[in-house]
Amino acid sequence: MSRQSLSPEMIKSVKDAILHKMVFALGVEPRDASKRNWLNATLRVVRDLSTEEWLQTRRSQVANGSRRVYYLSMEFLMGRTFSNAMISEGVYELIGAALKELGQDLEDIINEEGDPGLGNGGLGRLAACYLDSLATMKIPAIGYGIQYEYGMFRQEICNGEQVEQPDEWLENEFVWPYLRSSKRFPVRFGGKTWREGKKVVWQPEEEITAQAHDQLIPGFETTSTNSLRLWSAHASGKGFALSEFNRGDYFAAMVKQNSSENVSRVLYPDDSTYNGRELRLRQEYFLCSASVQDIIRRHEAEFGSCVNLADKVAIHLNDTHPTLAVPELMRILIDEKGYSWEQAWATTSKTFFYTNHTLMSEALETWPVEMLARVLPRHLEIIFDINEHFLEEVRSQFPNDNELISRVSLIDEQGDRRVRMAWLAVVASTKVNGVAKIHSDLMVESIFADFARIFPNRFTNVTNGVTPRRWIKIANPGLANILDKYIGDKWLTDLSELEKFNDFADDADAQSQVAAVKFENKRRLANYIEETQGIILNPEAIFDVQIKRIHKYKRQQMNVLHIITLYNRILRNPTADWTPRVFIFAGKAASAYYAAKKVIRLINDVASVVNNDSRINDLIKVVFIPNYGVSLAQIIIPAADVSEQISLAGTEASGTSNMKFALNGALTIGTLDGANVEILDRVGKENIFIFGNEVEQVEELRRNGYSPYHYYEKDSELNEAISQILNGKFSPEDPYRYQDLILNSGDYYQACADYRSYVEAQEKVAQAYRNKKAWIRSAIINIANMGYFSSDRSVMDYANNIWKIEPMSEEQLKGDSTIDSIIESSNKLLNLK
Ligand SMILES: *Cc1c(COP(=O)(O)O)cnc(C)c1O
Repeated sequence: MSRQSLSPEMIKSVKDAILHKMVFALGVEPRDASKRNWLNATLRVVRDLSTEEWLQTRRSQVANGSRRVYYLSMEFLMGRTFSNAMISEGVYELIGAALKELGQDLEDIINEEGDPGLGNGGLGRLAACYLDSLATMKIPAIGYGIQYEYGMFRQEICNGEQVEQPDEWLENEFVWPYLRSSKRFPVRFGGKTWREGKKVVWQPEEEITAQAHDQLIPGFETTSTNSLRLWSAHASGKGFALSEFNRGDYFAAMVKQNSSENVSRVLYPDDSTYNGRELRLRQEYFLCSASVQDIIRRHEAEFGSCVNLADKVAIHLNDTHPTLAVPELMRILIDEKGYSWEQAWATTSKTFFYTNHTLMSEALETWPVEMLARVLPRHLEIIFDINEHFLEEVRSQFPNDNELISRVSLIDEQGDRRVRMAWLAVVASTKVNGVAKIHSDLMVESIFADFARIFPNRFTNVTNGVTPRRWIKIANPGLANILDKYIGDKWLTDLSELEKFNDFADDADAQSQVAAVKFENKRRLANYIEETQGIILNPEAIFDVQIKRIHKYKRQQMNVLHIITLYNRILRNPTADWTPRVFIFAGKAASAYYAAKKVIRLINDVASVVNNDSRINDLIKVVFIPNYGVSLAQIIIPAADVSEQISLAGTEASGTSNMKFALNGALTIGTLDGANVEILDRVGKENIFIFGNEVEQVEELRRNGYSPYHYYEKDSELNEAISQILNGKFSPEDPYRYQDLILNSGDYYQACADYRSYVEAQEKVAQAYRNKKAWIRSAIINIANMGYFSSDRSVMDYANNIWKIEPMSEEQLKGDSTIDSIIESSNKLLNLK
């Protein structure tokens, strides 16, 4: 549906539609309706618009026999649905006008919606941006994930410490998804296998049911509407629990029911350390088995058999978490469809694609052979078989290289034997990609070096991207209006258009408008912080922001060292001409990650000392905003002047908040890590603050036995800051609180080595900020050169170079319409077309 000019008739029909939903879908008297009722009624109206297009998209995909991608991910961090759906359908203003006449404020209603926290951070948010872009780029795609009952925990800060509270996101009725009662699949675990002639029989010991829930993913201003299918786990009605019913032990049966439903109970709370617990293995298999069964069911319904599966189906593995889809597809083809090993492998190895998200060995998944034998005995056999075939190939390609064989074997034979999931994903995939240029280069030089020799054409790069609909249009409407005015509105679906904004970098009008919008966004954030935290901020100060998971490699601790240094400098020279600064942090630490939780506490301890020291005259404020998530990011990012992207070089695969910030006119202070490198290439070194050691230097320090004490002894300001932390300056009631931080923990991520160069870069930031015109000019150049970092470009790279999938045309999508009469009558109700 395209943009509308509003007429009184249209507004009236939308009002009627909302009231109709209120009464007949929710059963609520409009005069008694709560804000949540208004949200739900309105969301239903918008969903109707998307639903027509969704059904139409599916129909035309089937009619065209389109090749489709299935994006498997253990996490989807979608954020709120309502605004996004309204702008996709082009009805934002219309709905706003209708609600206004109903006495409701659109902003209020938008803020009623919760964030489903079905992801930890970057990996889940990337999947969400990609779904938005796949729909907008008209690429046939379905996302598959898990509907966790409890998503990411809700973070509270009590006495400076992180406290985890359950996130009961399903408690609030969420009207956006459709429950698909007929889409249920059995998922089986355990038991034993045996041979009957050539056939292998698997007799599982346990069965649970995967139930589908579909969310519509509307493309922006196109008919194209894809789905995200999330699975919830339910006790199976038949089989194992039943025998206890028969024995009359209702209680035991219900207890069992609880245990099988545990599979979709809760999201694992980390994205950067591997935690090899059995429940996680069961979750991963649950996602893979239900999704692969569903893919095969759909394919057979469309094409009659699996013969052309690899022509029509691309299955994408978002990190190794869904790699069990490989042996699951093999199992179904061989054991259930009667394929030979060779036929099954020919199909499977053409169907899969894999994105690597980390080079850090602590995050690489491996499963003990013993555990797999217990939980998935048939799949373990298949993995052994894949390994045997693969190693045979390697032996013929590289004879007599036993070292190579043991390095690339899918089974790590050292210690307890383990299956290396990343190796399995590489061996089974047609293409393997990293997520930023530097990361993809390092990937084939380090963890996958052997595989790059064995499969020279398999490895490639797709630099991550973010969706401009959510991260500009919705998060920063002021900036969106400026862009529309100066360069037209094509940037929303072709972000390379942004480069035209370069022409206005020196334009006084454009500069003052960009500055005014930034100031307004800073005021909006300052108000939010004042309301929620009671801290008053000066919007004229530099807003220096680091928001992301709290992790040692991301080095929030180094940011704190700089804050303390600045504090000390001001105390020594309080009357100098300092640039006022607000340091803003947000982010969750994994609940078991002791050191990261300590860093949160340190930030809050430093905040309470610095914020309350009248001697520094409010020149520094430190704020930790609790419960980071997508909606919070949408308020914070447009208000940032400075984007902190300070991970140790070689550790952040890409990062995506770096892109969101620069797109919103923040200047980056960052290391040559992840996508920062490509941001530098595009904005130029005058418009970014790069500091710190590069990958080679980091590795050299490691080789030579890195010691933080070396820097601590040599650098007096670093010495002072660390000593203050260790001596309890920021925790006088508990002076030993930070004994084990930084120095004594070995500083694995070399914050002490980069400290001096970071502090110097921060001095340049403060200096640069004083020249308002030059700063805004740099901000404009940042915005104008971020076009490359659209997730539309990323998904087109995947479609063209990896999946080989053609976008649909708008003509194909319109197609013939068998439910025209329904659409017509619902349009009559809405009177929109
Ligand atoms: C973009 C985003 C991330 C990723 O941030 P990085 O700084 O790239 O790690 C994490 N969480 C949320 C809510 C985001 O929007």
